[in-house]
Amino acid sequence: MTSSERPRVVVLAGGVGGSRFLLGVREALLRRGAPQATAIVNTGDDLWLSGVRLQPDIDSVLYALGGVNDTVRGWGRAGDTERVNEELQAWGAGWPWFTLGDLDLGTHLARTGWLRDGLTVTEVVERLSRRWPLGIRMLPMTDAEVDTRVRLEGGGDMHFQEWWTRHRATLAPAAFENPGIVDAAPAPGVVDAIAAADVVLMAPSNPVVSIGPILAVPGVREALRRTSARVVGVSPIIGGAVVRGMADVCLTAIGVATAADAVAAHYGARADGGVLDAWLLAEEDAGLAASVDGLGIRAQVAPLWMRDLELSAALAEAALRAADA
Ligand code: GDP
Ligand code: CA
Repeated sequence: MTSSERPRVVVLAGGVGGSRFLLGVREALLRRGAPQATAIVNTGDDLWLSGVRLQPDIDSVLYALGGVNDTVRGWGRAGDTERVNEELQAWGAGWPWFTLGDLDLGTHLARTGWLRDGLTVTEVVERLSRRWPLGIRMLPMTDAEVDTRVRLEGGGDMHFQEWWTRHRATLAPAAFENPGIVDAAPAPGVVDAIAAADVVLMAPSNPVVSIGPILAVPGVREALRRTSARVVGVSPIIGGAVVRGMADVCLTAIGVATAADAVAAHYGARADGGVLDAWLLAEEDAGLAASVDGLGIRAQVAPLWMRDLELSAALAEAALRAADA
């Protein structure tokens, strides 16, 4: 079998959109034989809360690939309860608008204990990855703590999770910042995985607060520019709107229109100092293909809705084919 039939794949991913896409990538690769894939996952929305370390995107990917995620609610563990959370609220600890499930807290306690023992974030993620057969190697983007802060139009700043969960992205953001990221390094394995890849896929994750922090880790952009792999992105915008969530508010804050071609332009063509070779557009956005091609990025039209595993796998297969084209 040639490498194009059974490619080594690297996926850049955020949480919920990222994990839906990763489920499709795993399925598409399984159909071609043994999957060889590495997910480089955003840690920009990690946080400390009630003394424990939370990694929302790592856990979304972990639970989804592990098959233990709550598919109805869309986040956390299936069948979780909130007894500890009720106690925390009774103590006035933590954030009253941020629910921590009991099973989820088990993950956070395990992680925090290992971090306190001196393990790196990469080592912790590796340990978390052992419990369920994930089928995809998971790497954090960096071992450094670079938690996202939202600087507000009206002055002041807050942790991204407070802005997103408590205020539902309603406070006008002036900028998204990851303090310390200029001194951060890619996690061990990240640059090597990109260099050794046959294909790099960018999940349809939030361009500003999921993919943005990954690309902002010094060395990641350079690795993407240097790899001999094709870099293929999938639009998180369908028909001029975000699919789930509030990414449009984030895009507006950084001066990017909520349009599939505008996001492609934001990432830029690899030949032009950017990171993309090809960009998957929704059928609803087929009219933007010429605009994307004009950027020096090869536009491909495909169904982009990931409503179930079959659709996610078809999307992943389309992204893999776009890399061959
Ligand atoms: P988060 O970290 O949990 O916010 O999740 P991600 O950043 O990984 O993904 C959020 C993005 O996924 C949103 O901007 C959505 O527009 C996008 N998204 C969610 N579902 C779909 C889908 O079915 N298809 C596509 N193309 N994008 C999606
Ligand atoms: Ca996230």
